[in-house]
Amino acid sequence: MTSTHRRRAKLAITATIAAAAVAIPALAYAGSNASDRTGELRKQVIGGKARNVILLIGDGMGDSEITIARNYQVGANGRLAMDTLPMTGEYTTYAVQKDNPRLPDYVTDSAASGTGWATGHKTYNGAISVLPNGKPVTTILELAKRAGYRTGDVTTAELQDATPAVLASHVVSRDCKGPQSMAACAVNAKENGGAGSIAEQMVALAPDVMLGGGKQYFDQTVQAGRYRGLSVLQQAQVNDYQIATDAAGLAKIRSIRPGKPLLGTFAKNNMDLEWAGPKPTSTGTASSRCTVNTARAASQPHLSDMASKAISLLDKASAGSRKGFFLQIEGASIDKQDHAANPCGQIGETVEFDKAVRAALNYQRSHPDTLVVVTADHGHTSQIVETGSTTKGYTATLRTQDGADMTVSYATADITGSQQHTGTEVRIAAKGPQAANVLGVTNQTDLFATMGRALRLT
Ligand code: MG
Ligand code: ZN
Repeated sequence: MTSTHRRRAKLAITATIAAAAVAIPALAYAGSNASDRTGELRKQVIGGKARNVILLIGDGMGDSEITIARNYQVGANGRLAMDTLPMTGEYTTYAVQKDNPRLPDYVTDSAASGTGWATGHKTYNGAISVLPNGKPVTTILELAKRAGYRTGDVTTAELQDATPAVLASHVVSRDCKGPQSMAACAVNAKENGGAGSIAEQMVALAPDVMLGGGKQYFDQTVQAGRYRGLSVLQQAQVNDYQIATDAAGLAKIRSIRPGKPLLGTFAKNNMDLEWAGPKPTSTGTASSRCTVNTARAASQPHLSDMASKAISLLDKASAGSRKGFFLQIEGASIDKQDHAANPCGQIGETVEFDKAVRAALNYQRSHPDTLVVVTADHGHTSQIVETGSTTKGYTATLRTQDGADMTVSYATADITGSQQHTGTEVRIAAKGPQAANVLGVTNQTDLFATMGRALRLT
């Protein structure tokens, strides 16, 4: 410590004591960004090529959902891992109308929005990497795989759910998850000469790592073609997949050699929730804390476990190659619990997603040639309203890390229905090569170009 530093430290201590004496709340001091950060930010503007891209998607994780989770978990002036990325912008998320694609559909679903960053094209709600006319468009994961990168797709939803599906399949409706669920996708069905259901197409494409739920669709029977009569899981097995069905099995997987991809399916449907808590009512609730969801199956890995495992397997498999990997990691049930008007469910998933972000940022620190992007697919319902107030919708009040009460309102549907997505722009944050391209207000489809440029795919 130099004498100047010592003097400064002494001054800081004196200031702290003085502050304590006049009882200024700690809130005024923590996490301050009041200094001039121009030089520091300039250093973070890095162009050129990335060896790896890690894309983290919080489904339905608009600014409101982030703020709710931050207030609850680390306090209003605390910072989540996702808040620490140096480049933060906003992007627009609208879909287009199926019958008239020149017109926007202002509120997107996860299929159209995912198709946006996966392919660079706007499409209609429900479309899985097909244009409004039903024509398939190549995805960022397909391009990366063809170019010799390792690839991964991780989610807490069913692997056939829209967000993971857009990377590795092309169907006209997101509902066509398995070979016996093709009612909305006759044109894509194997028996009609199509490429098959989402589950069949994902297994056929064979990203190196796929981790999530959706076992029920892998158990469906293939209806036509070479694998007719087998389940999709058996189709994977005859193609040399390594299969994991629980956290212990996943921990045992040591490597993913080419031709030996990993399929981990840990739940019949979506994976279990991290947290539980009060159900909002039209007259509000007493203030309470969230609790750990005791009904969660311990055999299921957490999202952060799956994220860390995927990163380490893909890193190891690409060691010694100029080309690293493309990996998408989704926190899916932020959205699903916002639909269900379940504030603690939603916050618990956001906090767990943030742990996955921390794992990606830790990797980025030792592998700075990695582009990390953290974003959402669309906004959602939950709003922070005046403490203790009731609204036209349903509210619950939670006691946050600050020791203060926060009232959360859900008011886009009746409590018995499903709360709706909203049409707001959402946060996109990045670190690493090409990260500066998320600054300002961009379009969701621009993310395809940013990632493609980083990996020299486009
Ligand atoms: Mg999703
Ligand atoms: Zn949704």
